Amino acid sequence: MLVILGAGESGVGAALLAKKIGRKCFVSDAGQIKQKFRKELIKNEIDFEEGGHSLDIILQAKEIIKSPGIPDTTPIVLKAKEKGIPIISEIEFASRHTHGTFIAITGSNGKTTTTTLTYEILKTAGYDVALTGNVGNSLARTIAQRQYQYYVVELSSFQLDNCYNFNPHIALLLNITPDHLDRYDYNFDNYVRSKFRIVQNQSGSDYFIYWKEDKTIAKYLSQHTIPSQHLTFALDDVSANAYSLDDKIIINNKTSSLQLSIQQISLRGKHNILNAMASALAAMAVGVDKKFIIQVLNSFPGVEHRLEVVDTINGITFINDSKATNVNSVWYALDAMDQPVILILGGIDKGNDYSQITDLVKEKVKAIVALGKDNSKIVKSFEQLVPVYETSSIDEAVHKAYSLAKENYVVLLSPACASFDLFDNYVHRGNKFKQAVFNLKNQINA
Ligand code: ADP
Repeated sequence: MLVILGAGESGVGAALLAKKIGRKCFVSDAGQIKQKFRKELIKNEIDFEEGGHSLDIILQAKEIIKSPGIPDTTPIVLKAKEKGIPIISEIEFASRHTHGTFIAITGSNGKTTTTTLTYEILKTAGYDVALTGNVGNSLARTIAQRQYQYYVVELSSFQLDNCYNFNPHIALLLNITPDHLDRYDYNFDNYVRSKFRIVQNQSGSDYFIYWKEDKTIAKYLSQHTIPSQHLTFALDDVSANAYSLDDKIIINNKTSSLQLSIQQISLRGKHNILNAMASALAAMAVGVDKKFIIQVLNSFPGVEHRLEVVDTINGITFINDSKATNVNSVWYALDAMDQPVILILGGIDKGNDYSQITDLVKEKVKAIVALGKDNSKIVKSFEQLVPVYETSSIDEAVHKAYSLAKENYVVLLSPACASFDLFDNYVHRGNKFKQAVFNLKNQINA
């Protein structure tokens, strides 16, 4: 029997696929299963338990699918390993059950944006393509529903950790900066190795697309040989396959080339130029016509909660970048701003090193509004540079930021922290921010 640990999107997706292929499975979740997933399991007559793990059943498994949220150090996982039961990820399992082509995308930042953009390009070009993985439906659920010719799959490091034979024809590695180190024994090298699992099965007929200027990626590649065809992108390196020069972007793969001006890209910021180059290289590698690439880069509206323009009130623009949960993302957000900024920052600190953004704060930020249960680290890190105001609710933060802003300023929510002190997740935080801006506008107009 197949045992599935965790009954979230990937666990339930795996169960649905198991059922579809006629494999008996049992789903076990140590916590409470969300109502919508419980209903799905019942409707599909899939055996499950919640609020604990039945060892007698689980340790009889032939194979275990572990959800990405469950750390390797969980007692049940340790026991299964001790017994020698193979533990795989939902991606590994799902990929066995399709002959479609995978374009897999990982990195510390930019995954969802690049995955969505790549999907939009292929879709616009008329490909039979699914958007899947860490964004939207799990890969297993997608494959259980129907087969596609192409799958654009967003992958977190946790999803890659238990992949062994999964082999994307096209693998994209956007960047690697420290994140999630609590799951990697606080060892950056372990996290780097996890990201590189995306290419572990590639051969000469596959493509590996990566950011040439990323020092961590470069260091790894200087020590390891990856036999696939390498395609690179860069901001300032004309030896890369895709690079920017003056206000142009030039993309050369082996068979075709493409040029467009930076103004033709609808997304803002250097990071998004990198994301756009990565997507274009992937699309060209599967033979997409240039005109579709240009069309989508021109019009792509961006993804919600990533530098999303919410509204402008009396000349003050509010931008929601709630997904910026690490300092690196905030660096790119500030870099993309060309107006004075009131920055809303804070939440649960993941060991942030704020010195990375000191220069940009000095240059562009007029005041910081700290939003969190414990704002002390933010106050300490920035009080010498700019005025810092402490708040403890999103409404208070939005009002404070508005009162500090002048015409032509930007109020930027780019928190650099996780949201769990005051919110369910970054989506909840972003939605509450948008609601607070909406309320403020109504109050002002009343
Ligand atoms: P992920 O799925 O990897 O978390 P997202 O596309 O959701 O990435 O973006 C997360 C945050 O990182 C956003 O604040 C976004 O503006 C920023 N970001 C997007 N692309 C990059 C990149 N290439 N490098 C650094 N930051 C980025």
